[in-house]
Amino acid sequence: MDYRLFIGGTFRSGTAVREIRTPYDGAVFATVHTGDAAMIDEAVKAAQRGFREMRSLTRARRAEILLDVRRRLLENADWFARIIASECGKPLKEARLEVTRGAGTLLFSATEALAFAGEEVPMDASAHGAGRMAMVIREPIGVIGAITPFNFPLNLSLHKIGPALAAGNAVVHKPASATPVSALELARLFAEAGLPDGALNVVPGPGAELGEALARHPSLAMVTFTGSPEVGTRLREIAGLKRVTLELGSNSAVIVEADADLDLAVPLCVSGAYAHSGQVCISVQRIFVQERLFGSFVDRMAAGAEKLRRGHPLEEATDVSSLITEGEAERVSEWIEEAVAVGGRLVAGGERQGSQMAPALVTDLPSTAKLLAKEAFGPVAGVNPFGDLAEAIGMVNDSAYGLQASIFTKDLQKAFRAAREVEVGGFLINDVPQFRADQMPYGGVKLSGTGREGPHYAIEEMTERKLIVWRI
Ligand code: NDP
Repeated sequence: MDYRLFIGGTFRSGTAVREIRTPYDGAVFATVHTGDAAMIDEAVKAAQRGFREMRSLTRARRAEILLDVRRRLLENADWFARIIASECGKPLKEARLEVTRGAGTLLFSATEALAFAGEEVPMDASAHGAGRMAMVIREPIGVIGAITPFNFPLNLSLHKIGPALAAGNAVVHKPASATPVSALELARLFAEAGLPDGALNVVPGPGAELGEALARHPSLAMVTFTGSPEVGTRLREIAGLKRVTLELGSNSAVIVEADADLDLAVPLCVSGAYAHSGQVCISVQRIFVQERLFGSFVDRMAAGAEKLRRGHPLEEATDVSSLITEGEAERVSEWIEEAVAVGGRLVAGGERQGSQMAPALVTDLPSTAKLLAKEAFGPVAGVNPFGDLAEAIGMVNDSAYGLQASIFTKDLQKAFRAAREVEVGGFLINDVPQFRADQMPYGGVKLSGTGREGPHYAIEEMTERKLIVWRI
């Protein structure tokens, strides 16, 4: 298939064409037109025209369009799942889940289109305000630049496009270069559902050129970015006074207390660490196990990792496929080697063939090892023992990141103490930090970013409050 970029309601040729390959075996499955900085400028201008229409659409109509896209997505669920699996190498069963979740994100966005509202300001609460009434209305902010990563090419796009359109904004979307096909297929659904021309524009192309041109564009109201901390930090530097939402990475941690139910904790940690080869921003990466359970936890987790079925992403039985590039798999291999060199013990997996890598488990790591200190973004987890809860909380907080974390325990006191003391945007009890439902407020602290997604929360950031006061 050959995909053109989407500007002003029309699919058009770009300035170059890029082959999109399935990361597992390098097979070309699509070609995609890419743009340049001049096309970003055209897209922003088209979006300004689209915005004029969007802001005057009724909320009911915006919700109808979002629900129509949802219906079309579900009708074409298998097609979308195959595209996701092919372009980002995610096993088909996980790709299907992404489509279902994407449909949920559209539903929550449509609901928000109907529900978000301002408020009355109680003016006679001060003598100075007496004799006046006031209300706050919430208005769309304009053209929003959305920059997305490769790992959830459909649902993370929808987390930006859905709430932006629900609020009456227009969007210029720069998808990841490795995975632009889901975004362009999505644009087709929006066009078929009757979205005004220019309300959504999709321009694939190299991030350093297009992403920066978008973030710098003087007519842009906001940048909403999901990706690495390095790029997020750069975008904040160049975005000037625009609003900026950053959903960045993490090295998510789990505490397994002495009273934890291992029948619950181990399978969840296995899927939480190795789903999509660990290329999930909330992948389980650091596991701290109370020393009495340490040995049995490690044995069971290693056995779970070894049982996962490796294979082509389009095969139904595949649990683990490949990393996005061979270079990324090499990097993760090197981090494992470094961990072993500084005293870590490799107890499962780690073998690499091209972009494919066996799910790996390393124990007894020093906190300075890259595998603990940085974001691994690969199929590897590190397990260390702890003595008491205070020590475990200290280990979790010994991180530059803070997206989500969790604890397994039957003791409510311990669970809520950890929930209060751990420095993250979201804390889970008897679950893994890799869990996300699309209506949740989702986002991090520290290097994990600023702002929250989840349509209800994203729309907060994508609207401006306007005060209206009148003398009575
Ligand atoms: P990158 O930061 O490399 O890329 C993300 C997007 O930014 C891509 O579209 C990329 O384009 C673009 N980009 C790259 N350089 C620039 C630049 N200088 N200016 C503007 N845009 C640029 O991240 P990955 O795609 O590798 O994704 C992995 C990262 O994303 C991990 O750190 C992960 O934790 C994080 N992530 C966070 C999530 C969250 O919700 N918190 C969810 C999922 C992932 P191009 O592809 O052309 O380089």
